[in-house]
Amino acid sequence: MAFITGVTKDGHEWTPQFIKAIDKDLCIGCGRCYKACTMDVLTYEEVDSEDSAKAYMTIATAGNCIGCQACGRTCPKKCFTFEPVEAKA
Ligand code: SF4
Ligand code: SF4
Repeated sequence: MAFITGVTKDGHEWTPQFIKAIDKDLCIGCGRCYKACTMDVLTYEEVDSEDSAKAYMTIATAGNCIGCQACGRTCPKKCFTFEPVEAKA
């Protein structure tokens, strides 16, 4: 199976790892990933509970993702999973 690949500035082949999921049970809503993503992929989702309102991060527009994994590197709770995407012939 061939995946979408790119090249770095100095010509190394690179396989982007695109966003697959965010584990909302682990997410503390800190927003670090939101600030890191320049592609408007992520958004907050608020959940009301009896004692307090909890916000967690969710995927809004997965198709905008460029596979840089910056979001995952900023996340203190390791909420993110990524995957390469099969290249279309
Ligand atoms: S991998 Fe990059 S483009 Fe995709 S959601 Fe994370 S920070 Fe945004
Ligand atoms: S960086 Fe991690 S813990 Fe913080 S809002 Fe994003 S997914 Fe949630």
